Order: sequence, then structure tokens, then C-alpha cells
Amino acid sequence: MAAIRNIVILTGAGISAESGIDTFRGAGGLWENHRVEDVATPEAFERDPDLVLRFYDMRRAAIQTREPNAAHTALARLDREWRGNLLIVTQNVDDLHERGGARRVLHMHGEHLNAWCTACDARSRWTGPLIDRPPCPVCGAPALRPDIVWFGEMPYRMEEIYDALRAADLFVSIGTSGAVYPAAGFVRNARDLGAATLELNLERSQGSGWFDASRLGPATELVPAWVDELLG
Ligand code: NAD
Repeated sequence: MAAIRNIVILTGAGISAESGIDTFRGAGGLWENHRVEDVATPEAFERDPDLVLRFYDMRRAAIQTREPNAAHTALARLDREWRGNLLIVTQNVDDLHERGGARRVLHMHGEHLNAWCTACDARSRWTGPLIDRPPCPVCGAPALRPDIVWFGEMPYRMEEIYDALRAADLFVSIGTSGAVYPAAGFVRNARDLGAATLELNLERSQGSGWFDASRLGPATELVPAWVDELLG
């Protein structure tokens, strides 16, 4: 452990599952009863904006009724107490890492609680619905969409993520299926450059074989135990 200074943690929907937020790949490959292609692509938004806006309005309202769990608060503790570099790269669009107290968080797939104006490009904090086409707080245009990276769009802040992976001594993946790229490839970037790699997940993920070690179980048990171990 003494050699570890720089840590990158990748989190996915599994870390929020025990807070009551559905993961992506439930039974039948549906997400909240919708096919992903019908709600999470730019084409879907163009074809049926009301369906997509309503879907995200519901998700945005729902996450505000959920609370961070023991896995979020354990990572927040690690963030507070770890003296070296640490970056929590999350694929999640909920705000449970932040509400759990973590600060070094990067949302590579955007955030439910942001709206993005397609007229002026501004991002504004947004907690209410978008279905009625409210004006952008910056330019006034009725052109707000969820600030979510849909399939086929470029994830945010990739340079920063790859810089952190290059410097990482330890890469830990928590609650992610390893099915969505580019995040699913981060383990290989990190290990190719010498980082130790660890997976914490309910079951083996698709990329499980790339990790030095896998611990299987619910995030609310595995993550606090791992953080205790790391902080001694
Ligand atoms: P995923 O749904 O594809 O995979 C979730 C993984 O978590 C699975 O491997 C599952 O076995 C594991 N898991 C489930 N419950 C767990 C638990 N209690 N403890 C530990 N692991 C558990 O999710 P993904 O890999 O994050 O990728 C899907 C995409 O879905 C992301 O792009 C993300 O933006 C989006 N998404 C986000 C949220 C959210 O913000 N909370 C929710 C659903 C989907």
C-alpha cells in the first residue's frame, strides 16, 4: 500500500442501486421500461422530443427523492482523507457522490441536475421539468435539453480522465457492467501503464479478466470495507 499515491475510481449505476436508482441493464435489457435507443440517443430526441424530455423529467424528479448510501459516503471519506491524488470518474448522472460528501468527482456522462442550452451552449443547474420548454436562464431561448451524454455523443473531460489514468498507481472500478465504452476500456489504459487494478461489483463484469482482483458483493458492503483497508 505504501507505494500507492494516485488513485482513479470509476463508478457506475451499481453504486447507486442500493439507493433505489435502477441500473441500466436490468432484466430484458430495458431501462425503466424503455429501450435505450428510444430515450438515450440524439436521434430519439429529434424523433420524439416529448418522450425523451418526459423520461428525463421523471428520472430528474426521482433522483431528488433518493439518498446516498454507505458506498457513496465511504468514497467521500476516502476523498477527504486521502493525501495523494484521487479522482472519482462517474458514469452516473445522479448527484449521490456529491450529496454523500465527495468533492473530487468528474461526471463523464453529464448530470441530471443540469440543463444544456442548444442555442447558447450554457449549462445551468436545473431541478424542475423541461417538458414545457422553459427559457434558458442565460439567453432566454426555449432550447434546453438534459445535460446527459447520449449514446453516440462524446463523453465529457476525456483528456483529464486519460491524464489521471496515466498517473494512476491504483485503478478501482465499482458497480459498472463494463459494457459501455470508452469507460469499459479504462482498466486496460491503467494496467498498461502499470497501475494495480481492482473491481468491486455484484457479479463479474464483462471486462473482469482485465483486473488483478475482483471482489463480488453489494457495494454498500464492499466499498466501506475496501476504504477502511486502504486508510488503515
Ligand atoms: P450497468 O447498469 O450497465 O451495470 C451496473 C453494474 O452494477 C452491473 O454489473 C451490476 O452487476 C452491478 N450492480 C448492481 N447492483 C449492485 C450493487 N448493489 N453493488 C455493486 N454492484 C452492483 O451500468 P453502467 O456500467 O454504469 O453503464 C450504464 C450507463 O447507464 C452509464 O452510462 C450511466 O450513465 C447510465 N446510468 C446511470 C444511472 C445513475 O446515474 N445512477 C442509472 C442507470 C444508468
